[in-house]
Amino acid sequence: MKIPFLELKPTYLELKTELDATYRRVMDSGWYLLGRELEEFEAAFAAYCGVKHCVGVANGLDALHLALRACEIGSGDEVIVPSNTYIATWLAVSYAGATPVPVEPSPDTFNLDPSFIERAITRRTRAIMPVHLYGQPADMDPILEIARRHGLKVIEDNAQAQGARYKGRRTGGLGDAAGNSFYPGKNLGAFADAGAVTTNDDTLADRVRVLRNYGSRRKYYNEVQGFNSRLDELQAAFLRVKLARLDEWNARRKELADLYRSQLSTLDAQLSLPAVPTWAEPVWHLFVVRHPRRDELQRRLTEAGIGTLIHYPVPPHLSQAYAELNIRQGSLPIAEASADTVLSLPMGPHLSRGQIAEVTGQIRAAFDDTSGLRR
Ligand SMILES: *Cc1c(COP(=O)(O)O)cnc(C)c1O
Repeated sequence: MKIPFLELKPTYLELKTELDATYRRVMDSGWYLLGRELEEFEAAFAAYCGVKHCVGVANGLDALHLALRACEIGSGDEVIVPSNTYIATWLAVSYAGATPVPVEPSPDTFNLDPSFIERAITRRTRAIMPVHLYGQPADMDPILEIARRHGLKVIEDNAQAQGARYKGRRTGGLGDAAGNSFYPGKNLGAFADAGAVTTNDDTLADRVRVLRNYGSRRKYYNEVQGFNSRLDELQAAFLRVKLARLDEWNARRKELADLYRSQLSTLDAQLSLPAVPTWAEPVWHLFVVRHPRRDELQRRLTEAGIGTLIHYPVPPHLSQAYAELNIRQGSLPIAEASADTVLSLPMGPHLSRGQIAEVTGQIRAAFDDTSGLRR
């Protein structure tokens, strides 16, 4: 690959001196779980999101799952989720023992369309889980208003959007609680799996703290049947080093997204570019274009040495994992059309302007000599 979809090593190399010193400090401390490093990262990330509490856990899926449990959502309950999200959003609901109920996104923004939500609410509905997909904030105000009217919790899936803003406010602090992922490829990524719940609610934060550590507050005294889901000291310390760079890296992503947009604007009638509502400040976790003959475009780019990915090729309701829900093909047409047409172009803070120009040049060439791609 001349231009891989994403490279993780450059982030390490940029911060090598600091990260190597951090590694030695934590290893020398002799303390590896639930210590000072985690507390300091939790305080720093809570401040960054503008929330009172951050509770580190083992990964993003656990963050969503434990946030649902802390809201006392479980068996017999329904939770509204986007039809076009990564399957982890649905799995978190299933882990809690509840049922995911899909609602379609707006075809322009890929995010939950608030006008579709109310018809999915039943007597069993307990929460709405909007996802800030691809780093674009969901339209939270109408979602929060619907939730208030129906007495529902709102749990943001903030796995892809660290640093994004909705009407000037950071995501991760807009609902009752949020699940964050620090999977290595996310905008704020650790060097292993990691995640966190952010919330302004003292009770929810306290419950997640107990749930992540075997249900105990005091060693060997267990209040509830908890889980083992902890963010270790080493990853917490690495994350604190990387958090200091997050805004700068997100700004670089925005610069690259702007370049994609300007260099692909001549194809506007042929290739759909991501729409950004006026109130949104996305962080470009992914730059996703759409084309009806997406597979052909992807093949052309692969041949030119350019890595692309599809987020995601199978919507959760059509995956074998959710066959039990019996949601038939054709019933969630926006999610299904999205799965068939989306293509994620290379994106990351360490791509150069020249590399973006190479990608857009190859896309324009593909449209010039493949009549099939032209509409
Ligand atoms: C990555 C991701 C998750 C899960 O995070 P992990 O840390 O991989 O468990 C959840 N939801 C969305 C939308 C994600 O992209």
